Amino acid sequence: AKVAGKNCYRFYSRTMDQAVERRVRLEHDLRGAWGRGELSLAYQPIFRTRDRVLVGAEALLRWNHPEDGAIAPSVFIEVAEQSGLIEAIGPEVLRSACAEAAGWPTPRGAGEPPFVSVNVSPRQLRSGDLVQQVTDALVESGMAPERLHVELTETAVISDEANATALLARLRDIGVRVWLDDFGTGYSSLSHLRRVQVDGLKIDRSFITDLLRDPDDLALTSAIIAMAHSMGITVVAEGVERQGQFDLLRERDCDLAQGYWLGHPMSALEFARLLD
Ligand code: C2E
Ligand code: CA
Ligand code: CA
Ligand code: CA
Repeated sequence: AKVAGKNCYRFYSRTMDQAVERRVRLEHDLRGAWGRGELSLAYQPIFRTRDRVLVGAEALLRWNHPEDGAIAPSVFIEVAEQSGLIEAIGPEVLRSACAEAAGWPTPRGAGEPPFVSVNVSPRQLRSGDLVQQVTDALVESGMAPERLHVELTETAVISDEANATALLARLRDIGVRVWLDDFGTGYSSLSHLRRVQVDGLKIDRSFITDLLRDPDDLALTSAIIAMAHSMGITVVAEGVERQGQFDLLRERDCDLAQGYWLGHPMSALEFARLLD
């Protein structure tokens, strides 16, 4: 009867069941994936718009699953976040990014070695250990703190503003730069910028996609850039897929740009080659 009941349930909600099974399996496999060398960082180049000089890179986590191959970050980051595994993986990402970036040479025309920008998850932010993790990564790698950027989503910062404000202030005291990721997708972005001190913001890709066609998106993007600059905040546009978007962003005085038209995420080795 038990087996029949189970089969009956499966019959009615097979897709849901399979999704849950996949999650459970991914969570199981993700545990220890770092230790087995299945996780690595890809680096996507970030350019100054003014002269298209390479000035930095965003570190993006990759998982090469032994059976399933590459798993989409949107899938496994979510699993890592919800299971709490991100609290173990996050510090490794910080250490690894700093270790790999420490030796990067100064690109032609840049005047200083490139920065490395690391995504920090909401859960990592709440763990209370972030300052220590960052300090460890910097001490171990010997990299200058100014070269490390941490990217936090607006939502993560806003949902825990008091804690986040204090934490970000401590990071900035060390010299690390704080960036707001996916800017414009959360709500009441502007009022929070007054209280939460950040060095930069990344305009979400959804604003850039239709930049050439949609006057609203262009107006919003231009307004974000002007507002940020009046507060001394640097602006990156992400998801630049065409030259037209890049040209328009440069015209509107956007500081930095990132996207497939400029460069896809690549291995540490390929990125280092790009710098020579
Ligand atoms: P994100 O932080 O917004 O990262 C940018 C994403 O946009 C990356 O996807 C990148 O590959 C993609 N992208 C870059 N340029 C373009 C473009 O021109 N067009 C389009 N359509 N996409 C572009 P990816 O690598 O799949 O990462 C997805 C998300 O996973 C990231 O979004 C970030 O939220 C999260 N993530 C990645 N690595 C880490 C990590 O180490 N820690 C944490 N906590 N989250 C991470
Ligand atoms: Ca990011
Ligand atoms: Ca983003
Ligand atoms: Ca519109």
